[in-house]
Amino acid sequence: MSVKSLAVPPKVGLVSLGCPKALVDSERILTKLRADGYQVSPTYDGADVVLVNTCGFLDSAKAESLEAIGEAIAENGRVIVTGCLGTEAEMIRERFPNVLAVTGPQQYEAVVGAVHEAAPPSLGPYVDLVPEQGVKLTPRHYAYVKISEGCNHRCAFCIIPSIRGDLVSRPVNAVLREAEKLVEAGAKELLVISQDTSAYGVDIRHAASPWKGREVRAHMTDLARELGTLGAWVRLHYVYPYPHVDDVIPLMAEGHILPYLDIPFQHASPAVLKAMKRPANQDKTLDRIKRWRDICPDIVLRSTFIVGFPGETEEDVDILLDWLDEARLDRVGCFKYEAVEGAAANALPGAVPEEVKEERWQRFMEKAQAISAAKLEARVGTTIDVIIDEVDEEGGATGRSKADAPEIDGRVLLRDAGHTKPGDIVRVEVEDADEYDLYGVPLA
Ligand code: SF4
Repeated sequence: MSVKSLAVPPKVGLVSLGCPKALVDSERILTKLRADGYQVSPTYDGADVVLVNTCGFLDSAKAESLEAIGEAIAENGRVIVTGCLGTEAEMIRERFPNVLAVTGPQQYEAVVGAVHEAAPPSLGPYVDLVPEQGVKLTPRHYAYVKISEGCNHRCAFCIIPSIRGDLVSRPVNAVLREAEKLVEAGAKELLVISQDTSAYGVDIRHAASPWKGREVRAHMTDLARELGTLGAWVRLHYVYPYPHVDDVIPLMAEGHILPYLDIPFQHASPAVLKAMKRPANQDKTLDRIKRWRDICPDIVLRSTFIVGFPGETEEDVDILLDWLDEARLDRVGCFKYEAVEGAAANALPGAVPEEVKEERWQRFMEKAQAISAAKLEARVGTTIDVIIDEVDEEGGATGRSKADAPEIDGRVLLRDAGHTKPGDIVRVEVEDADEYDLYGVPLA
């Protein structure tokens, strides 16, 4: 082995686009590359090869991914493309003939092989280069835990099942081992992600696996209960409102996991939900939300919706807005429907003109904002727990309450918080609020 190869391990740059699931994929790829002796370069300049982990879900995400590939080629020249857009290898190669390799989502071996070819490892597999919990791209105090891949639903607007396939759940003890390592490495908050968290374990018939001398079932409720014993905040994302979701609400009321549910309802009009192929009955859902709040009054419900789906009428929008008035969800995002290449919804009649989508989106957001503002206003004067994300030089800090997931929800902006550090959980008196954020001061 030459002295040079020992002194200069190859460096990989990474551009990670898309959802938290793609971020977890990037982390896995980097963990493997670090194990193989690679270093991570924070700049294009310093990298021997650049990996672009793409998203191909919406046309706008596709455009962003193509732009990122173009930028990496212009800045570095040696580029490997992976992720969801990797399923369109031909189109990528046509646009960027210089791309070194194209691999699809979760093709970890293929992408690592392509990196080996582009910049051969100089040190061999030095496993001790990898920190115990793997390589994380999220700040150290919170971490995403992916519990399954793929999805058994076939929502008309979504191409994820055709990209990622049917549901494949990880064994529950593998998930728990990873979560425990993350907590040991400093994670104070675990964000459980998948395409459909409430379906966890369905594909493996909820098979139990041994964990700490006990048998634990691969089931959302059992997983949530076990995660709740690790000493970190546990937040559940992408939960479908199946009846068994009711069973996790007592765990929230008892403080095992955060009183937070991220449920992508997508719409409330039965006709639109049917056209979307979403199995849901919104009246029953309202009853269930009410029951959840009776059991756990602090529960925070986050959701996303789509307006302007093909065939959506003014009446459907009225139903949606009335439903929102009743449901009074805490955190709400809304997308204007976009046709996605390969989605079944493209064949549906009744495309909604762009200006009508825009107008419906505005009406939706106005209502959602008013609900959010009223809910946050009601918290002024209360005392809440806040996890610190960042501390600035002027003695202020930015954090999140139990009601706020990183990047998608609101923040709590703190004054006189110079003594705190990222990952601290502090008691805060809420002094003010606006549509999305709270303002406060840590208690002594
Ligand atoms: S539940 Fe529907 S929207 Fe979500 S990944 Fe599955 S098919 Fe796509």
